[in-house]
Amino acid sequence: MPIILVTNDDGVDSPGITALYEAMKSLGDAVIAAPDRERSAAGHSLTIHRPLKAENINGSVWRINGTPTDCVVIGVEKILGRRPDLIVSGINRGPNLGDDITYSGTVSAAMEGTIMGVPSIAFSLDYPGKGDAFYESASDYAKRIAEYALENSLPYDTLLNVNVPNLPLSDVKGMKITRQGKRVYEGAVHDIRSPFGAMHYWIGGGKAFYEHGEDTDMNALLEGYVSITPVHMDLTNYDAIKFLREKWGL
Ligand code: MN
Repeated sequence: MPIILVTNDDGVDSPGITALYEAMKSLGDAVIAAPDRERSAAGHSLTIHRPLKAENINGSVWRINGTPTDCVVIGVEKILGRRPDLIVSGINRGPNLGDDITYSGTVSAAMEGTIMGVPSIAFSLDYPGKGDAFYESASDYAKRIAEYALENSLPYDTLLNVNVPNLPLSDVKGMKITRQGKRVYEGAVHDIRSPFGAMHYWIGGGKAFYEHGEDTDMNALLEGYVSITPVHMDLTNYDAIKFLREKWGL
């Protein structure tokens, strides 16, 4: 039986991780190591200035007072005590598209797994924040994609960033391999005055603009497809190396 580590950034009690765990249990020995509370937008942060506690909730569910990256590190090093066959993160409450993946705790957990050399996949549901959330559609596709990764592994140094449209399963049209699009928020910083008169700033809730390129992650979702973007950890811009060497004469 393959060993599968399950984590997220919405917290151990979120509906998305329960749905993902149920799907993974049918593929192997699934163990949850997840944050004790929501850590969305935690990015790839690692807690190094305080100790972390891992509490066992039941046999295979662990709650950790840290970030998603902390959960992967402690999950692999201490809870499992060996490298799992697969690390899955999610199912996130909301999409992780374009440049947003750099903020995402969900995707960062899969980055940590990839750095460790473990096939890793991030799953997100394109839930808009109100109305029905179709986690069961996402868990159905999560199972299919995880099964494929267990059988065929993943390309070197590459995680899969999977986004599922928020639709009933029968309305999801299938899967598309996509590229990471561009996304820009406008007016996302709000002024808030404290009861004592000081000005504060609250980031979030801006209007998002997307690049609608045909092969982008966003476009697949808009068309009703599951978007699968292969993301690699080598951030080097190889074209820029050539450009800088030539133009700067280095
Ligand atoms: Mn989240």
